[in-house]
Amino acid sequence: MPHYEVVIIGSGPAGLTAAIYTARADLAPLVIEGEPSSTSDQPGGQLMLTTDVENFPGFPEGITGPQLMLDMRAQAARFGAEITTEKVSRVDLSTRPFRIWVGNPETPETPEPTYTADAVVVSTGARSVMLGLEAERRLIGHGLSTCATCDGFFFRDQEIAVVGGGDSALEEAGFLTRFASKVTLVHRRDNLRASKIMQRRAFDNPKIEFAWNTIVDDILGDSKVEALDLRDTVTGESSRLPVTGVFIAIGHRPNTDLFTGQLDMDEAGYLVTGADRSTTNVEGVFACGDVQDHTYRQAVTAAASGCMAALDAERWLESRAD
Ligand code: NAP
Repeated sequence: MPHYEVVIIGSGPAGLTAAIYTARADLAPLVIEGEPSSTSDQPGGQLMLTTDVENFPGFPEGITGPQLMLDMRAQAARFGAEITTEKVSRVDLSTRPFRIWVGNPETPETPEPTYTADAVVVSTGARSVMLGLEAERRLIGHGLSTCATCDGFFFRDQEIAVVGGGDSALEEAGFLTRFASKVTLVHRRDNLRASKIMQRRAFDNPKIEFAWNTIVDDILGDSKVEALDLRDTVTGESSRLPVTGVFIAIGHRPNTDLFTGQLDMDEAGYLVTGADRSTTNVEGVFACGDVQDHTYRQAVTAAASGCMAALDAERWLESRAD
């Protein structure tokens, strides 16, 4: 079976940056980039669901998310990273070399792993929890967003909505009032889950209005968001809220199921890394990007942590060779 010094699992900005660095260090990494399957899980990660990226340094005119990922992928390949469009279904990090299986986890597992690796970089990212509406697939990147920091700028003087009642929703709503003329916070209950201080800030913000006990039945618009169809859960009444943007802020889930029982995670399922490092509890396994970061969640911070993971892996491999 093919053996690699470094296998990188995941192909967002973290994984591809780790690939560029390890490839340039002559480690000939394999990137297992995933398979196109759903909106929340595909090669290239969350940037594939973004239209314009204006805050990634080096692109004064901006760049689309998919183009940025294609460029990073080409850059990694140029230096000799091998990239395979497969999805990891199982890992065994208890043996040396580490063992990695790909393929449909539904099919009976083959006893032999598909790949083995001396070092593994985990960059499987995270996904935003979505409402589960068909319209979300159509409109993400076209007025529907999961990141106010990334997309708030596009909604200057417009009326928009944020869905959710936790700290993320209130933080996003507060941030968005810098741009939007009005932000309606749509929450399914009549009290917020967010911390008291965040609540107070939101209540004090004259640009934020609250739609209590309200769920989103549909998001309207063919090629861009035009309105929300809302329903009051107490009265059952339906209403339509015209908005040009909607931010879904009902939580994030790191893609860490593969590593349950093998890598240390926090209570929300994010991988735990060493302070200012990419090391995990298993020597030789490194983690970078959103799979271990629930604070910043930016393309540039993911890329930076991919660089750290590559350097940590390279140094660890070197130390073993000594
Ligand atoms: P969260 O605390 O789990 O809140 C999720 C919110 O989304 C809840 O209000 C929930 O409603 C709502 N929700 C969930 N599923 C929904 C659905 N299908 N339809 C409609 N609404 C739905 O998630 P979070 O706000 O992302 O925060 C995650 C963690 O990060 C928290 O511990 C939070 O304190 C922390 N955080 C902190 C800060 C900060 O301190 N500055 C900022 C961001 C996040 P219910 O309330 O009815 O369950």
